[in-house]
Amino acid sequence: MNKIAVVGAGISGLSIANYLEKHQLDYHIYERRKKDDLTGHGFLLPKEGIEHLSQIVDPDVLFKQGNFLKKYIQYSHKGKILAEKDLHDVFVISRSSLIKILTQSIPAGKISYEETIMPCSIQKGKLKKQDGAYIDSDVAIVSDGSKSRIRREIFKDEIMKIVQENEIVNIIKCKDIAASLEDNFMKYHHEDGGLTFGILKLSEDTVLWYSQFDNEKYKISEQCSVDSLKKYMFEVFDDWDPMVSSIVKGSNYENVHLWRVYELEKLNPFYKDNIVFIGDAAHPLIPFTSQGVTSALKDSFTLTKYLISEKNTSDAFRKYEAERKPEIETHIRNGRILLDQFLKPLNQQTDSILPISYK
Ligand SMILES: Cc1cc2nc3c(=O)[nH]c(=O)nc-3n(C[C@H](O)[C@H](O)[C@H](O)COP(=O)(O)OP(=O)(O)OC[C@H]3O[C@@H](n4cnc5c(N)ncnc54)[C@H](O)[C@@H]3O)c2cc1C
Repeated sequence: MNKIAVVGAGISGLSIANYLEKHQLDYHIYERRKKDDLTGHGFLLPKEGIEHLSQIVDPDVLFKQGNFLKKYIQYSHKGKILAEKDLHDVFVISRSSLIKILTQSIPAGKISYEETIMPCSIQKGKLKKQDGAYIDSDVAIVSDGSKSRIRREIFKDEIMKIVQENEIVNIIKCKDIAASLEDNFMKYHHEDGGLTFGILKLSEDTVLWYSQFDNEKYKISEQCSVDSLKKYMFEVFDDWDPMVSSIVKGSNYENVHLWRVYELEKLNPFYKDNIVFIGDAAHPLIPFTSQGVTSALKDSFTLTKYLISEKNTSDAFRKYEAERKPEIETHIRNGRILLDQFLKPLNQQTDSILPISYK
């Protein structure tokens, strides 16, 4: 296998780099951000995600950085318990911790930061840097996220839609709140639907909370500065259960972030010529599925498997797409069902209470 360019050092880019490193394939990663930009939220990983991660990182190191959740508790926004479910092998970890762990076994010389990569409109299948220089590679693995510029340039007819749900995510340091949560994943739901507050412990002193809101009902200012997000949280959650309102009011907002969620009306092929897409770049998933990271890991595993076993890359890409697409389509369908439930008033919600899509 000749030289591989990996575009993007998010979870997909870094996980495939770990597999390529393990199999001693020649690659280089190009990442737009600065090296120490580790912003981001946290991820829920079901069993399959943990299993795939454990193939490329030391499970002991991994498990020290996150937390296994034992129980999912669903509340009304006034604090009444609506349902409870035991969780088995559901792990939560911050994005920054996972990025750090995945970066550890990649030699420094194999990642270039602050390098934005674009497709070349003149030479088919070629990528170029910002300064116009071509990337020296035979195969490009594109993992540049849900709004992939390379994908949009190649599949010009694709239709990207804004999902009727946004998330405000925050990570705070607080030992007392972390201890009070134990290993529970607590999620509060407004009885009119379209608004939730979820909270879980990432480690002994770190807590992640997030609000999911129907963006047609709860408008948020376009600027989305820290102050406007804080104001929104204070206003909207003021009369919720004291557990929620006190956390909202007592939080530091330094790490707060607004996620706008996008989906493709229809999936594109996962490859074109010598360019192949993995992770969110191939298939943005609605966060309700909690399958983004696990799917990225499975894409990386499957693509590497075929890059090794197949003589030519087009066969490898074809087999990778054939294996991964049906499962992704299931998660997309499940995500839409979960979104539909979320938008309904609580008394009309009927389906599974778990915020995870299983195939
Ligand atoms: C609010 C929210 C909550 C989520 N919660 C969960 C969850 O609980 N569980 C879960 O499994 N998943 C979750 N996800 C999904 C998850 O974040 C992604 O699916 C997962 O991180 C895989 O991302 P990725 O590596 O494919 O893309 P990204 O994480 O977007 O990484 C893309 C990388 O490419 C870089 N890049 C972009 N353009 C270029 C370019 N032109 N050149 C070079 N580099 C470039 C970016 O800087 C970035 O580092 C959530 C997503 C959102 C939005």
